[in-house]
Amino acid sequence: MASVTLEGTSKKFGDFIAVRNMNLAIKDAEFVAILGPSGCGKSTTMNMIAGIEDVSAGTIRFDGTDVTNVPMKKRGVGFVFQNYAIFTHLSVRKNLAFGLEVRGEEQAEIDRRVGEMAEFMELSHRIDAPSVSLSVNELQKLAIGRSAIVEPSIFLLDEPLSNLDSAFRERMRSDLRQLQRSLNQTMIYVTHDQIEAMGLADRIAVMDHATLQQFDTPENIYSRPENTFVAGFIGAPSMNLVRVRIAERGGAMFADLAGREADAVALDERLARQARASGAAALTFGFRPEHLRISDQPGNGSLAAQVVLVELVGRRKHVHFSTGQTGFVGSFDRGVSLRPGEAAHVSIDLRKSHLFDPETGLRLRLGEED
Ligand code: ATP
Repeated sequence: MASVTLEGTSKKFGDFIAVRNMNLAIKDAEFVAILGPSGCGKSTTMNMIAGIEDVSAGTIRFDGTDVTNVPMKKRGVGFVFQNYAIFTHLSVRKNLAFGLEVRGEEQAEIDRRVGEMAEFMELSHRIDAPSVSLSVNELQKLAIGRSAIVEPSIFLLDEPLSNLDSAFRERMRSDLRQLQRSLNQTMIYVTHDQIEAMGLADRIAVMDHATLQQFDTPENIYSRPENTFVAGFIGAPSMNLVRVRIAERGGAMFADLAGREADAVALDERLARQARASGAAALTFGFRPEHLRISDQPGNGSLAAQVVLVELVGRRKHVHFSTGQTGFVGSFDRGVSLRPGEAAHVSIDLRKSHLFDPETGLRLRLGEED
């Protein structure tokens, strides 16, 4: 069992706040990604959990036991850094055996586990090679294997795949997930790569400016972002966040994206309730590029917009639209036929769209189900 709990945990470097009042309850055997832009405090959070950095305020608990002032060596966590700390003068075998030897395991047991880990990491054919002769990919596998072999109940990885080429990264991602499941570990994984976080983690802690923005499942982070930061950070292209005027006509609520009453989007019941309850004259309307449809004809709630730019991205077509007043992006099957300069009628899937408070950035919601 190894749950990890941060309560009001903060880190200051002089007057600079690197992590502010972090509350995070990570469950035993959970795979959690800490995701956010450069400098938001991900590594500092991780270093406090590992005991590399002391905390300025708050507590850290492992399985309910306060470890805030327990030195790193006694916390018993495994840690893999971005810059792998390998003993390059030692062989692959010696590097893998290191942690087990320090713990005084019997030689037969060391040999067995080193053999197994070398096999899992596909390093068996290099087992007696000096580490200095390994490729970057092999070195990273060795770094992960060397920490994993002692089977720490808490395993921390800070951007462990960032030096690797993309094909190999994909392989390593699934290997890591498999390793975590087979060892039943609590794994905390720092990354600035949303694809990595979305694909690997049970839950994602999204950070920005030293502050936790949302801690939730990948599905909820994508479809129910807490605020405009999370909404805009996740997804490629990211969610359209458009300032709209809210108007009530004939008992219905409208969001005006284009500054033209005739093109205002009639809100569905859920969004209309939220807009009405907020009482605001202007809100931020959030809709994902993949939740747009092209209509053949005007009307039926569609919005007139001009095609500005069309980009082919893999099997998708990203289309930039302008309403004259505002711009937004749609993502479609590459078969959709749209050319720059053309007029289009675009409809938005309102069930998957959100309204946000433009001042606080928070998503409007009336109840838990919203
Ligand atoms: P990256 O993805 O670039 O590694 P990060 O989210 O991991 O970023 P941190 O390394 O945690 O960010 O750093 C958060 C902030 O704290 C940064 O502005 C960084 O410059 C600052 N910082 C980190 N360590 C120190 C230190 N020892 N002294 C002073 N400032 C520091």
